[in-house]
Amino acid sequence: MARYVGPVCRLCRRERMKLFLKGAKCETMKCAIERKPYPPGEHGRGRIRESEYLLQLREKQKARRIYGVFEKQFRNIYAMASRQQGIAGENLLAMLESRLDNVVFRANFAASRSQGRQFVRHGHILVNGKRLDIPSYQCRPGDVVSIAEKSRENIVIRHNLDTIDRAIPAWMDVSAVNFQATVRALPIREQIDVPVREQLIVELYSK
Ligand code: SF4
Repeated sequence: MARYVGPVCRLCRRERMKLFLKGAKCETMKCAIERKPYPPGEHGRGRIRESEYLLQLREKQKARRIYGVFEKQFRNIYAMASRQQGIAGENLLAMLESRLDNVVFRANFAASRSQGRQFVRHGHILVNGKRLDIPSYQCRPGDVVSIAEKSRENIVIRHNLDTIDRAIPAWMDVSAVNFQATVRALPIREQIDVPVREQLIVELYSK
């Protein structure tokens, strides 16, 4: 599937907040939000008329951009989330969070979700001992996500394991020495630290 290949910092500037799309650079003063904290483009610093629709749209775009999901795929995930029991917005976030590329990122195997996706696509990741190269795979409780034997000396993966110290979410167990992460349960809303007001996305899609 085609992916967005334009400048990713532009996406953060559009949402006027750090979406942490670039790994280590996001923590430095080189971050575009630190240097240019206004939307991109000729009229970036102009006045924007806020509307209910705009707020809802921006929230949806923000979620899409954080998880690197295209519109159609996002809509499909929402459709599935709204058919499940419970609150549609929370189900949506739980489904996004359970994607294999996100699990690889959360386990600190990858510096960003896009790098996590690349590792999955390039065959570096196993699920329950079998190679799985589908970044959108929905991890389930009990799934063991690990780094393939031949990839454990990969210089980028090694560097990530040695340097990234993001907190591991409570819904997974990670063993860096065994190069594996176990999904204990599906994440609940309190365990998902993305700055998205999911209710606005539900309102947008419910129109
Ligand atoms: Fe966003 Fe990271 Fe670029 Fe900063 S460096 S604008 S957080 S992608």
